[in-house]
Amino acid sequence: MQFCAVCNTNRAQVIRPKNGQKLCSQCFLDAFEAEVHTTILENGIFSNRGERIAVGASGGKDSTVLAAVLKTLNERYNYGVEFVLLSIDEGIHGYRDDSLETVKRNAVQYSMELCILGYDMLYGWTMDQVVEKVGRKGNCTYCGVFRRQALDRGARRLGISHILTGHNADDIAETILMNCKTMICPDIDAKDASMVAQH
Ligand SMILES: [Zn+2]
Repeated sequence: MQFCAVCNTNRAQVIRPKNGQKLCSQCFLDAFEAEVHTTILENGIFSNRGERIAVGASGGKDSTVLAAVLKTLNERYNYGVEFVLLSIDEGIHGYRDDSLETVKRNAVQYSMELCILGYDMLYGWTMDQVVEKVGRKGNCTYCGVFRRQALDRGARRLGISHILTGHNADDIAETILMNCKTMICPDIDAKDASMVAQH
């Protein structure tokens, strides 16, 4: 059994990819929260007390972790800001239903206001209606463009000027690789580059 590199008492349960440190779950949580808090302070992210800030919530693990850590730190360090979970429903039957249930549970668990906005509200079209018009081929192009704008439009409707979104290191690495690939070979589209980035 290997002991945690910090407390040297509990069993190590995670290896941090960023530094190879082997930590128990409590020491990992402590380190993660401390790093997020430092980033918030160093970048003056919550400089306006009383501000309402949107948290992009997809129901996936990245945005769920983001909401959880923000709630914890806002209470612990009294940033004095209010978070609103902002979810986008693309209107694809059977696709978003489960993840929206997760978002609803998060809203209760973290005592945050939840706002779910549909493509139909933001654009006047659901993705199911787009597919009916343009067919299955190529509809991802529409959805991709809509998604990029949806959080901005949604926040504007709520009178909110800042949005926080959760990402993991793999996503960031993939984005960098996709940008490099499309810069080097402009004729390769982003979808091909994304497949390259995953390997
Ligand atoms: Zn430990």
